[in-house]
Amino acid sequence: MSIVKDRKKTRQINIGSVKVGGNAPIAVQSMTNTYTQAVDTTVAQIKRLEGAGCEIIRVAIPDMDAASAVKKIKKQINIPLIADIHFDYKLAIAAMENGADALRINPGNIGKKVRMKRVVQCAKDYGVSIRVGVNSGSLEKDIEESLGNTAIALAKSAQRNIELLRDMDFHDIKVSVKASDVSRTVEAYRLVSLQTDLPLHVGVTEAGGLYAGISKSALGIGMLLADGIGDTIRVSLTRDPIEEVRTAYEILRALDIRKRGAEIISCPTCGRCRIDLFDIAEKVEKALLESKIPVKIAIMGCVVNGPGEAKEADIGIAGGDGAGILFKKGKVVKKFSEKKLLNVLLEEIKKFENELNESGGKLNGEED
Ligand code: SF4
Repeated sequence: MSIVKDRKKTRQINIGSVKVGGNAPIAVQSMTNTYTQAVDTTVAQIKRLEGAGCEIIRVAIPDMDAASAVKKIKKQINIPLIADIHFDYKLAIAAMENGADALRINPGNIGKKVRMKRVVQCAKDYGVSIRVGVNSGSLEKDIEESLGNTAIALAKSAQRNIELLRDMDFHDIKVSVKASDVSRTVEAYRLVSLQTDLPLHVGVTEAGGLYAGISKSALGIGMLLADGIGDTIRVSLTRDPIEEVRTAYEILRALDIRKRGAEIISCPTCGRCRIDLFDIAEKVEKALLESKIPVKIAIMGCVVNGPGEAKEADIGIAGGDGAGILFKKGKVVKKFSEKKLLNVLLEEIKKFENELNESGGKLNGEED
């Protein structure tokens, strides 16, 4: 039985060609960490992210150069682009005029209502959706003074900003209420989910480096997804954004919500391990980064226990003293010298892909 509750039915909006909310798959997004105006570098990073399965990309728009760069970037990428704007309504308008598919904005930060009205009118003209991005670091003063920096305050800010947009007859909205700790984040999203049927962008903000970031994101995003809350997710790490996308898919896979590409299982190694398993596992992961082959691979440290412990794997390798074995569904297929382990495994994965293609099977990541 699944531990994931039925997903809350939210309103569906479009971020360019990607649907978010309703019954659309939970979309994986990330954010570039290049200077947006450095068009070539930004495009190169987005291309790598596309390859890893990123479905929506957000770029920071700190100035007019960045807003102008959107035009050139958009021409060279295949996924929708969100312009991340703080404070300056003119940047929001310029980004939309240059082809941004969506905005991340905090209407409360834009200042006079008349400015926000201009942003909203432009969003309507260009069919651009807006994320109300409430963040514990930039709560409105009056809300923070009366409610503290709490989950209730985050939800209150979201409600205020949503109303502001709705009063302008704007409804293509998604919402996020991020804090840097898991408890406040989860509580705030639960409150917002009760308040609105708008789609939710879920994430823990400034989650941290690799270990803290992955742990907080897996817990925070995972708890919410298991509750049926969340329509698009962003894992936030102080790392190459590729790691954010990889982590996002692992969270979705762990909850059995979406799968993409190969699943690699590997043993933690113990005193029985006689090969450099860490190195092999890392090389296999790297080789399969952009793969969409729905194959379960096991990389195990010893011949004695490996095949039995990884019975459910389609293909597996296990190392011994100078020799290795290839196994499929727990059964040993052949033996070979340890030096060949990695190549044999990669060849078998290729064969698996060819057989899948011949039988008309689907690659993972294309169908959902
Ligand atoms: Fe140890 Fe072998 Fe199990 Fe790996 S597969 S943890 S080496 S017993």
